[in-house]
Amino acid sequence: MLYASTPEDVTPTPLARVLHWLLPAHCLGCGEPDWRPRASLGLCPPCRSLLVRWPARTSCARCGRLIGAQELPPGYCCGRCRSAPPPFAALLSTWTYQPPLDAVLMGFKFRRLDYLGVQLGRALAEIHRREIGDVAAVVPVPLYWTRLLARGFDQAAILARSLAGELGLPYRRALRRRRPTLHQSRLAKDERRRNLETAFAVRDRAAWPGTRLLLVDDVTTTGATLRAAAGALSRAGAEVTALTVGRTPGPSEHVRLKAPMVEKGHTRCKKDTGSSRGGARGTSKDGWTGAGLV
Ligand SMILES: [Zn+2]
Ligand SMILES: [Zn+2]
Repeated sequence: MLYASTPEDVTPTPLARVLHWLLPAHCLGCGEPDWRPRASLGLCPPCRSLLVRWPARTSCARCGRLIGAQELPPGYCCGRCRSAPPPFAALLSTWTYQPPLDAVLMGFKFRRLDYLGVQLGRALAEIHRREIGDVAAVVPVPLYWTRLLARGFDQAAILARSLAGELGLPYRRALRRRRPTLHQSRLAKDERRRNLETAFAVRDRAAWPGTRLLLVDDVTTTGATLRAAAGALSRAGAEVTALTVGRTPGPSEHVRLKAPMVEKGHTRCKKDTGSSRGGARGTSKDGWTGAGLV
């Protein structure tokens, strides 16, 4: 036995010290040697404590965009979602994409540390189980085949499979990537729409009408890829909740994370039709309308 206790509380034995000296494991965050085998998310306890949860309670209930510093009543959403509802009922993110989470996801993606995918799936299940609610299957955002070939590793698939296992749900590869999602900022308005609408194809279309699906990816930045993937599933009749490990703050969100301010005029998201099954935030399938804030 190499360790006197659990991986979370490690007292290395003399043999473990020797093995560690020969094959040292290092924290993905700070690079310090870590005695624990497959330490929690590959991080030492001080680095683990630096992970910052995405501030969901002060963010739009639908797209997850950070609105301000004050806690919002359940179901409040931003103006963008009121004027142009996204194709997902909610976009849930777990942590802010910043050190040391970036190192964890880079290790997972580029060093092929599969155990991180398993641990991340477990963490996502524990954190979001209630919000995820009653879904029929877990679906990964697929990689384009050239990227999969080059990388040889599909991080969203590993993550989604682990999450599905933790939640006791089926894992389904419901999407196929037709091509990489192009950068929206480089495209004209019509091209943007086409870019999003044609990036993904749905497999087995007859299976999804009226089904709630959990769409999983590792990181979201602009949300464009998730919108494209969720849009394809939505057009096939599914109701989609999206979930990512990390979320990169936009420029205004960076400011708010440092010196938060409450956005004026945001209004409560309210469903037009469909059921409210999106979890604690009262999300809906067909879009929400503003109902006036306080
Ligand atoms: Zn560390
Ligand atoms: Zn929003």
